[in-house]
Amino acid sequence: MTVSGSQGAYATPPGPSTGPALNADGYHVSNIGGGLYWVTDSVYQAMFLVTKTGVVLVDAPQTIGENLQRAIDEVTAISGKPSTVTHLVYSHSHADHIGAASIFGAEVERIGHVETERLLRRDDDPNRPPPTVTFTDRYELAVGDERLELAYHGPNHSPDNIFVFSPDYETLMVVDVIYPGWVPFKSLGLSQDTPGWFRAHDQILEYPFATLVAGHLGRLGRRDDVVIQKSYLADLSDSVRAAATTVDAQSHIREHGANVWAAYQSYADEVCARAARPVVTKYADNLGAADVYTTAHAASMLETLRRDRGELDLFGIRP
Ligand SMILES: [Zn+2]
Repeated sequence: MTVSGSQGAYATPPGPSTGPALNADGYHVSNIGGGLYWVTDSVYQAMFLVTKTGVVLVDAPQTIGENLQRAIDEVTAISGKPSTVTHLVYSHSHADHIGAASIFGAEVERIGHVETERLLRRDDDPNRPPPTVTFTDRYELAVGDERLELAYHGPNHSPDNIFVFSPDYETLMVVDVIYPGWVPFKSLGLSQDTPGWFRAHDQILEYPFATLVAGHLGRLGRRDDVVIQKSYLADLSDSVRAAATTVDAQSHIREHGANVWAAYQSYADEVCARAARPVVTKYADNLGAADVYTTAHAASMLETLRRDRGELDLFGIRP
C-alpha cells in the first residue's frame, strides 16, 4: 500500500485506517455479535449491549451525543428489544468520552471505578454525574440475559481507565490506549501514566479478544492493531535513545549559554526530529498520521526514557 496523495501538508491516511461511511445523521452503528453493537462518528466510539430488560451503554462521547440513542433505537426497532438505557458504564472520567452521560437521565445506573468517582466528584461537571455503583478490581455486570466483565489493571492513559470485556462476543473495550490503523493521539495518547500506558498494551493482549473497541477513530480494532502499535513504539523508543546520545548536546549548550531551558529545548528538538524521520518512513504506509504525530511522540518518549526509566540525563548522557 502506498500513500496516494496528501491532504494539506500531511499525507493521506492509508486505506485500512478508515472505517465505514456515516449515515445522514453523522454516525455508523453495527453489530459485533449477539446483542453487542458499536457506534462511531469516525472520531469517537461507544459500545452498547442490548438485553431483554434494557440497554447497557459503555461510554457517552460528547461528539456522538444524541446520536447514541438514535443508534440504539435503530437496532432495537429491528430486534424488538427495549431501547431504554438502564446501565451506563464509564471507561474513565475524561469529558470527551462520557460528556454526554447526562442525556440518559438521573435514573440510569452508572458503573465506574472508585477513582472515576473521585475524579468526577472533584470535576463537579453536571454533564458527567458520578457513578452510582463503583468497584476496585473487578465487577461482573449481568443485565437481562447478557454480561460484561469490568476490570481495573492500574493507571495508564488516565488514573482510572478500565477494561470492559465481553467473553460471549470476544470483544474488549479499552479507550485511549490503542488507535487502530493510526499512530496514537498526540504525545503518547496524552497519557497521565506513561509506563502504565505501555504496560496496558500487554495487558490488552492477555485478554482472549478478537474485536477491540478502542474508543477512537472510525473502525474496530483487532489483535494485530495492538501488535503494530507496540512495534511502532518500540522502534520509536530505539530511535529516540540513539538520537539522544548522538546529537551534539554541547553545541546547544554553547549556543544558549546560561539559558538552560533554551539549550535543552533546542537539543530535544534536534533529537526528536532526527528520531522521528526513520520511523515516519517505516510506518507511513501502514499507520495514519505517522507524519503528523511522530515528532510529538518522540518528545514524550524522550521524557519517559529520562524521567520514568532513568536511562538518560537531561542532555542525553547515560548516568
Ligand atoms: Zn481520555
